[in-house]
This record gives sequence, C-alpha cells and structure tokens, in this order.
Amino acid sequence: MIAPLSRSYVEARAAFLDAAAAAGARIDSHPHPLRGLEGEELFVDVAEVGPTDADRVIVVVSGTHGVEGYLGSALQRHHLATLDREPAVGPTLVFVHALNPYGFSWVRRVNEDNVDLNRNFVDWSQPPPANPDYADLAALLVPDSWTEAEQERTLVGLMGVLQDLGMARMQQIIQGGQFHHPTGVFYGGTGPVWSHRWLREFARRRLAGVARAAIVDLHTGLGPWGHGSLLSSDPPGSESFARQRAWWPDATALDAGDSVSAVVAGDWLAAAHGFAPDTEITGITIEYGTVDGITVLQSLRADAVLHATGDPAAPEALAVRDQVRAAFLDDDPAWLETCWPRYEQVLERAIAHLS
Ligand SMILES: [Zn+2]
Repeated sequence: MIAPLSRSYVEARAAFLDAAAAAGARIDSHPHPLRGLEGEELFVDVAEVGPTDADRVIVVVSGTHGVEGYLGSALQRHHLATLDREPAVGPTLVFVHALNPYGFSWVRRVNEDNVDLNRNFVDWSQPPPANPDYADLAALLVPDSWTEAEQERTLVGLMGVLQDLGMARMQQIIQGGQFHHPTGVFYGGTGPVWSHRWLREFARRRLAGVARAAIVDLHTGLGPWGHGSLLSSDPPGSESFARQRAWWPDATALDAGDSVSAVVAGDWLAAAHGFAPDTEITGITIEYGTVDGITVLQSLRADAVLHATGDPAAPEALAVRDQVRAAFLDDDPAWLETCWPRYEQVLERAIAHLS
C-alpha cells in the first residue's frame, strides 16, 4: 500500500525527508529564495543512497512541473520505504525532490516566473524559438478576466479554432512552447530561471567522475488514466535514443510525432547531455495520465488568469488550485497503485543496465 498523495508542499517535504532518513540516505537541502503558499521556506532536497564515489548513478526527479510533484514525491517516498536493506551493490540512487518547489507549493505547473521549466532549457545564446501562431490564440487562452461569460466566450472561440486546425496542430501551437507572452501558458521565459541554474550546477558537480547515469523525470497530465507513457527527449537515430529503446522498448520520441506530447522546445532532459559531457546519460520521462486534455488545459488557463490578473493568496484562489490539482493528480488511491508498477519497471531496468 502506497501512502496517499500529500496535501501540501510542507507535508510532502516532511514525508520525503522522513522516508529518506529512515532509509539511511544522505540528505542535502538547497534553499530557494522565495516562500511558499503557507509562508514556508522552499527547498530542493536531494537524498542519496549508495556510495558517494560510485561511477554509476540513477537520478530520480520530481516536481519539474510543480504540482505534478505530488505524484513524484509519493513515488520517490515509496521507493525509499521499500529499498532493499542489503548492502547496495548497484548504482547510487539520487532522489531530487521538488525541482520547482515554488510551483509545487503554489499548486502550479509553472515556476515563480510563470515559466514552464521544460520550455526554459533552450539555447539562450540564440533568440528563442518563434511560435507566431500562439499570438493569435493568446487572448483567447488567457483573457483579462475569468467571469463565467468570459470563460464561455473564450472556450467557444477555442473550440472554433480546434475545428479549423485539428487537435494535433492546436496542441503543437499551445504546448510546443512560446517566448513572447509572459502571462500565457507554456511560456519559456527570457533566460535561465532559478531551477534551471540550480539543476545545471548540481548536475555538473554531482555527475563529475560518473561514467554512466540514468535520469528519470516524473510527470503527470498527459495520456490515459494511470498509464505511464515513456517519453524520450533525444532524437531518433542518436546513440542515447538507441539506449533508451534498449532499456525501455516502449519509449517514444518527443520528436517523432507519435508520443502523447507535442514536440516541445527547451525540455531539460534534452539539454542534460550538456550538463555533464563526460557522462553517458540515459534519460527518460514518465508521463502519467490523469484526465482529458481539455480539462487539463482549462485548469492551466484558470491558473494563468489568476496569476496574471487576480490575487493568488485570496481565498477565491483555492478553487483554482483545486482545479489544477484535480487535473494533474487523482487522490483516488487506485490511481497511485496503478502508477507504481511502471515506476518500478523503469527503475529495475535502469538498475539492471547500469549494474
Ligand atoms: Zn510535466
């Protein structure tokens, strides 16, 4: 039986730290400069099990997309709680808890800058990728107010666009990432954000001297309920893609157009090879399904309007947070039980291939 999803960042963090301590993990807490929803301090917490100097490591990351971290946290915790107590001989396990702690606490997918962390890892020495079609939808997606009349009007407008463009094209325009509408959805920012800078520096330090690493990034909100789709950020034809397919045969490439996701600009796993060029990195995203895509998008729109025009600390904001939580998580224990075997399978295969 897996412990239920936490109700707050404070609760999730405490439970993670308890599980890590009980597993005898080394714990390192990295403070974030801002405060959370309850005024609490925020951290990226790292718990490690296994030798510090192992040349093979597995990094499991939760909370790249804030709110999605409630699932990732529960899976990390359960993994820590069920670790074999025999002396470890395999790769060292590195659990990164709440990569985007601000979004985790505020029940948002994005970070403190309204930035989608997985659109922020573009090459900032170049102008960000253009997505001109997003501009046509920007005012419909995130209108100036969220009255019932405005919700109705903009939803009808978006449904009209959907009929004209089709689902695949519309998903690409909206989810592919955009860099010119700071209050919009799937916004990539104007430069590396806090979690980006932290992750790059952490990976550079932690993976120094590591020959081979697996990275598992935990996400929710796309695909069938409870199913863990495996998404590769590497181009088909690359060596790392071949490894991903050898380890996890049903992994699909984000680039190939047959995955549950749009082709995205700036996701961090695609950039991870650059963090530690001397380390062979085999990364994978597990994307767990919750509800349908329209319901997910509606929650992101409500959240974006609230943070663009409203008061996220006001009591009325609770309804929006509940809407976002219900779109990205399911508090039914059956969902969590359905999610676990995929996590276990992905980790078992990574351990086997790195041992
Ligand atoms: Zn995600």
